[in-house]
Amino acid sequence: MATEKLAVTRATFDEVILPVYAPAQFVPVKGKGSRIWDQQGKEYIDFSGGIAVTALGHCHPALVEALKTQGETLWHTSNVLTNEPALRLASKLINATFADRVFFANSGAEANEAAFKLARYYASQRHSPYKSKIIAFHNAFHGRTLFTVSVGGQPKYSDGFGPKPADIVHVPFNDLAAVKAVIDDHTCAIVVEPIQGEGGVVPATREFMQGLRQLCDEHDALLVLDEVQSGMGRSGKLFAYEHYGVQPDILTSAKALGGGFPVSAMLTTNEIASVMAPGVHGTTYGGNPLACAVAEAALDIINTPEVLDGVAARRQLFVDALQGLNAQRDLFSDIRGKGLLIGAALKPQYADRARDILNAAAAEGVMVLVAGHGVMRFAPSLVIEPADIAEGMARFAAAVEKVLG
Ligand SMILES: *Cc1c(COP(=O)(O)O)cnc(C)c1O
Repeated sequence: MATEKLAVTRATFDEVILPVYAPAQFVPVKGKGSRIWDQQGKEYIDFSGGIAVTALGHCHPALVEALKTQGETLWHTSNVLTNEPALRLASKLINATFADRVFFANSGAEANEAAFKLARYYASQRHSPYKSKIIAFHNAFHGRTLFTVSVGGQPKYSDGFGPKPADIVHVPFNDLAAVKAVIDDHTCAIVVEPIQGEGGVVPATREFMQGLRQLCDEHDALLVLDEVQSGMGRSGKLFAYEHYGVQPDILTSAKALGGGFPVSAMLTTNEIASVMAPGVHGTTYGGNPLACAVAEAALDIINTPEVLDGVAARRQLFVDALQGLNAQRDLFSDIRGKGLLIGAALKPQYADRARDILNAAAAEGVMVLVAGHGVMRFAPSLVIEPADIAEGMARFAAAVEKVLG
C-alpha cells in the first residue's frame, strides 16, 4: 500500500515549525553538485553550502555510496559498543592532525560543549577547581547550547536564557593586549575561531594566534580552537590552524566533517584526554556508524592535494569576480577570509541592504549567506565547478543591480 504524501509548502513552515528561523521563500527538493532545485523546478547555484557544510557539493557519489552501504549494514549501536567506522575515522583524523584522541558528537555545539567541559575538567583535576576562567571573543560564535552561547560573544544569543554559566570573559578579537589584561593563573582556556565565521568572516592574524598560544603556555591554560566552520579544507588546509604555525590543545570540527550528514568531533592530546574516565561525559548518537562512515568518505576526499590545492584557485575566481563588481560599483570596503570562506563587507551606506541582496540573489538563482553586520558570505563546495562560479557570480551581480539600482 502506497502511503499518501502530505502536500507541504513554504507556508506550512509558518504553521508547524518553532519560529526560530526565517527561511527563504522557496523549498529546495533536490541537489546535485553545486546546484539545487526547488518545488517549482527552479534551479539555484549554491554558494552557501548549507552554511559551510556541503563541502563536496550535494549528493556527492562517494558520500551517497558510503551512506547506502553503511545504511544497509549497521546504523546505530550506542556507546555500549564501539564500531569500525568510528575507529577508522578517529584514526584518520589523528593521522592528519596534532591530536591523539577523538570524541564524536552530532553537532558543532555539542563538540564545543565537550571541549569547554574538558578544559574545565582538566584544570580541576590537574590544577584547581578555581581554575575555571574561560577567555573568549566579541562576535565569536560557538553554538546554541547554554554553555556555548555563553562562551559565544554575541549577547543577543544568550540574553533571556539566564542564569548563564559564570567565569567567562569576552575581549576584542585580534587584540592580544586585551587578552593579556584578563588572563591569569585561574584561566583554564582561551577559546577562539581561527577565522570568525558568523561574526563576519574575520581571520585571526598570525601574531594574535601565536600570542594566544604563548599566553596559554605561560598560564597553564588550554588553547581551544573552534574549527567547526574553518576546518575540513575550507581554508585550503585541512584545518585552519596549519596556516598559523601553532598547535591547539583541543580542536572542534563539525559542519563539513560529514559533508551534510550530522556529525562532529572534538580532538585533543593524550595528556588532556587522560583526565577523562567512563561516565564523565558522553552522548547516545555520537560516533554512530552511519555518520562516521559518511564522514570517513568525506575526509578521504577532502584530505587530498587535489581538493585542498584546488581551494586557492577557486577562491581566486570568487575574489576576481567580487573585485570586478567592486570596480564597477564601489560596493565593498573589504574582501577577506581564507580559502573558500569568503567575506565581502559592504560599505557602511549599503550594510543594511545585505539581507535584501541575499533575497534578490535567491530570486536571480544564486544562494549566498550574510555574516556579521553587512558582510556577504560565500562558503561554497570545495569542488565547485569554475563554470558554476562564473554563472553564480553573474547572477549575484544582477541581484546587486536590482537592489541598488
Ligand atoms: C556553526 C558553528 C557552530 C555550531 O554548530 P552547530 O552544528 O550549529 O551546533 C559552532 N562554532 C562555529 C564556529 C560555527 O560556525
